[in-house]
Amino acid sequence: MKQSKLFGKTLRESPKDEQSVNARLLVQAGYAEKLMAGVYSFLPLGLRVLNKIEQIIREEINAIGGQELLLPALHPREPWEQTGRWETVDDLYKLTDSSGRDFALGATHEEVITPLVKRDIFSYRDLPLALYQFQTKFRMELRAKSGLLRGREFLMKDLYSFHASEKDFQSYYEKAKEAYKKIFSRLGIGDKTVLTFASGGSFSKYSHEFQTLTTAGEDTIYLCENCRVAVNAEIVSEQKVCPECDRAKDELKIAKAIEVGNIFPLKTRFSDSFRLTYKDEAGQDQPVIMGCYGIGLGRVMGAIVEVHHDDEGICWPKSVAPYQVHLVRLGDEPEIVKQADTLYEKINKLGSEVLYDDREISSGVKLKDADLIGLPLRVIVSAKTVAAGKFEYKQRAADKTALSSDIKVLLKLL
Ligand code: ATP
Ligand code: MG
Repeated sequence: MKQSKLFGKTLRESPKDEQSVNARLLVQAGYAEKLMAGVYSFLPLGLRVLNKIEQIIREEINAIGGQELLLPALHPREPWEQTGRWETVDDLYKLTDSSGRDFALGATHEEVITPLVKRDIFSYRDLPLALYQFQTKFRMELRAKSGLLRGREFLMKDLYSFHASEKDFQSYYEKAKEAYKKIFSRLGIGDKTVLTFASGGSFSKYSHEFQTLTTAGEDTIYLCENCRVAVNAEIVSEQKVCPECDRAKDELKIAKAIEVGNIFPLKTRFSDSFRLTYKDEAGQDQPVIMGCYGIGLGRVMGAIVEVHHDDEGICWPKSVAPYQVHLVRLGDEPEIVKQADTLYEKINKLGSEVLYDDREISSGVKLKDADLIGLPLRVIVSAKTVAAGKFEYKQRAADKTALSSDIKVLLKLL
């Protein structure tokens, strides 16, 4: 991609109306643009990151038997009445059309998926079942000030599982836990993300959250540095010790963290509302046991930026960077242009994703922008490198540059 053609220019100044680091950097670098508090457009660079996050999640959820579908965002009032949540979910956006009919904008999808699976679940042979989607959720978040971390409209991966027995549910829940660990590790935040015990709501003793440690986090957790598990401060009054090694609360470290995902036992809360049952081997009707598993994609993107940045800009992990290589041409002399253009073609041919800064602007601005945008590998073609018959390169997080003449070898660094 030639940067001269890229939609989403970098801004000289960091946006004044953003308080959080993730939004300041993502808006300044041209990844996202705020429409209003808690609602962002993703520009071409930002969408590439989002799509990479989505694909990693998709691969790991498919690997535990999830089947992808897509449910509507506009819901009728009736199923929300049926679960009693029309009145109790206080962040639900409700709207009425000109005929007087009420709707909800989906804040979550139990009200849609549970009645839907009734069409296919009859007997124990139809279970287990795991269905998921990537879908826009709407929530009336009143404190939307953390950039991509808390949106009023945001993309979520939500997975729902359906089981014939508590035992089968438990075994799937453990698989989901492992899948989540793989996902966050592939997303480049594995070593900062800890399994956290949280309240199970009214359904069960615990649910589990995946909390990414950063001072930008809204949640407070008690971390056992020994076991790398934590307890959310909201439940710590019940859970006074590390759930794994029984270390006492005062030996746990208090830390701020972002809840990037969670897994939740639903028991029969929704199957009861919609009478979702199956016939067991004796032909008796039994309620289906359910679980739900969420990951916020925009929140993950924001969390990655909170963890991976420095004073100059973002430092994307390779797995989610919008492009792997930032080819920066310094100077407009014909020989420099020729060599840079040739290198661009070569990198494309070798199959690496490359952003080529071919703009006719000052070298200082180009280098600053490259740091801000934060691609993993920077390759520079300048008067100096042309004279040396080589090009210069630098990994985003490293401080030293080096010279090379073999782009193929260099791309192997990635
Ligand atoms: P929180 O306590 O932060 O409000 P939640 O408990 O409401 O989160 P869930 O309803 O379980 O979250 O949603 C699943 C996942 O969706 C969360 O783990 C998080 O990654 C993401 N998420 C939830 N609310 C938002 C939001 N307002 N903006 C962006 N992502 C969100
Ligand atoms: Mg919430």
